[in-house]
Amino acid sequence: MPHPISRRALLRATTASAALAGMAPLAPLHAAPRAAPAAAPLTHNRAPLAPQPFQPLPTGAIRPAGWLRRQLEIQARGMGGRLDETWPDVGANSGWLGGTGESWERGPYFLDGLLPLAWQLDDAALKAKAQRFVEWTLASQRPDGMFGPASNDDWWPRMVMLKALTQYHELTGDPRVLRLMSAYFAHQLKALPARPLKDWGKFRWQDQVVSVVWLYNRTGDAGLLELAALLKRQGYDWQGLFADYPYRTKTSKRAIGLDRPDVPGEVPEGLRDPALSVHGVNNAQALKASPVWSVVSGDAADRAAIRRQLGALDRYHGLPIGIYSADEHLAGRSPSQGVELCAIVEAMYSLEQALAITGDPALADRIERLAYNALPATFTDDMWAHQYDQQPNQVRCVHGPGPWTTNGPESNMFGLEPHFGCCTANFHQGWPKLTTHLWMASADGGLAATLYAPCTVETRVGDVPVALRQETDYPFRHTVAITLEPERPVAFPLRLRVPGWAERATVTVNGQEQPAKAAQGFVRLDRTWRRGDRVELAFASLPRAVRSAEGWTSFEDGALVFALPVEERWSTLRPRGLTADYEVRPASDWAVAVAPGAAIERVERAVGPVPFSRRSPAVVLTTTAYPVSGWAIVDGAAAPPPESPTVSGAARPVTLMPYAAPKLRVTAFPTMAIPTAQT
Ligand SMILES: [Zn+2]
Repeated sequence: MPHPISRRALLRATTASAALAGMAPLAPLHAAPRAAPAAAPLTHNRAPLAPQPFQPLPTGAIRPAGWLRRQLEIQARGMGGRLDETWPDVGANSGWLGGTGESWERGPYFLDGLLPLAWQLDDAALKAKAQRFVEWTLASQRPDGMFGPASNDDWWPRMVMLKALTQYHELTGDPRVLRLMSAYFAHQLKALPARPLKDWGKFRWQDQVVSVVWLYNRTGDAGLLELAALLKRQGYDWQGLFADYPYRTKTSKRAIGLDRPDVPGEVPEGLRDPALSVHGVNNAQALKASPVWSVVSGDAADRAAIRRQLGALDRYHGLPIGIYSADEHLAGRSPSQGVELCAIVEAMYSLEQALAITGDPALADRIERLAYNALPATFTDDMWAHQYDQQPNQVRCVHGPGPWTTNGPESNMFGLEPHFGCCTANFHQGWPKLTTHLWMASADGGLAATLYAPCTVETRVGDVPVALRQETDYPFRHTVAITLEPERPVAFPLRLRVPGWAERATVTVNGQEQPAKAAQGFVRLDRTWRRGDRVELAFASLPRAVRSAEGWTSFEDGALVFALPVEERWSTLRPRGLTADYEVRPASDWAVAVAPGAAIERVERAVGPVPFSRRSPAVVLTTTAYPVSGWAIVDGAAAPPPESPTVSGAARPVTLMPYAAPKLRVTAFPTMAIPTAQT
């Protein structure tokens, strides 16, 4: 429940958000708009698939700009572009390059993010790295249609490779992709009855349905709809699970059979489904299950089911950063529980798909909450080290016991592959796919600004090439400027999302204020767009103190969550090739409480070279905190915030940073019982 904030903060925030006139003038576009590649036409759902309000633009149509480009460049200079040079699992001996090394999911995971990164940055060296995996994969197909490393016939890693290949086709138009997919899907239709989905593939079937639908929209082969139905039948019934949700508390090892000393680490046969259905990454992938299936079924109830799914996960396992706890399994609501990096990027991708299918703007708010908080939080500034599990209240990252459901002693350390290497291979898709989904095509022939970050877009409306440039320091600021550059005047509806947190939106076109009444979360502008038309958006909003059901307080402004930075003492545990594994210990007190009603000031600073860094936070909040006694480390982490904190010292002003900036932090605070006087 939001708390009132001071009048001073209100005035400042309102003035800042409305100050469009103060925005820097736009430089003209550098280059004349280029036509979108002929290889990447807009593709809408082919009958009998259900129409959807938005369709993602082909990969490559949207390029990062401003701070987002800097973030992708950091990824490319870090593990994102150089992982293969220091981690054999995606190196030259990968099974997905014809070698004898790792032949399961890691090569496809890496490629799934490397491909869009390489093309979005137009980086020839990265493109060449990605191309090697593509070439080997395309050449690996056998006469029966199966492809990939012969040493491993699991359906699951192929589901990931299909996600990569569909992007590659959108980027290049390479016809070999359609041939490989057609032959493989024909093979699967024959082979699945005798060799059905199991384990990961069974719980992640919806990821393959995305690729099956993608191909059906290009070929119209009716066998593909049969295959989609077969995958659904053999796959786990996620929608049924959430109809009456049974998993309402932190998963115990016992509940999933991991407490048996006779078979350590092995989930017994009878508990495999329960274990996989409380698995954090499976749940993240499953967020797309009902919407994706609704495209095939045409059933509005399927499309709407994601709301119940998210509602149950929030209610029983929700963290203050827009996702549930899952360290490895669903872990309840304590802000000291962790969430795995794979779950963050898979939830983002699922929600990007679900946003296109449902048009639900609340899903866009959630994508931004993940992308602008949880995603960057779990990396060092240079993206050369990451965590397996991040915690909202993270006051030490040290080898040893933790409060985890089932994860091990390295789970929240920063490094090359802390705990397990899946996240090392899989994180790459996070930023590039966010970029891909910033704008979408609408079913009525228009364009929609679905997520906000600086970017350029090259696409078509009908047969007219349209370029646009979106300039903004969102989420650090609440204003966005869009310059349209159609090759010739063209009429189409332009939809602009109004974030759920915005109290009010102001929209101008060429300086003229427009009626900004949002319908289903989008303001719609219908007009003939001409070269140089400029749309400006401002979202009025105030910093907020948010109380959880447990009474904990966290702080938000726009799409950003804020946290108290704890002083960090970093030490190298061991070198790991081009990177290292690190521990981080606290060097300042973190046990503080906040009072309801305290004033919150919002202060904007320059957006630094590393967008989410504690060295140069682009916006901070200041408020008042009170030292408390009795809030201590338990089981290697901060105990849940005490219900009735005991104040042990004088109030002091504190500066809160965007959640992702400090790697040691407090995000959910104990709340004092008595409100302080308004200042
Ligand atoms: Zn992982």
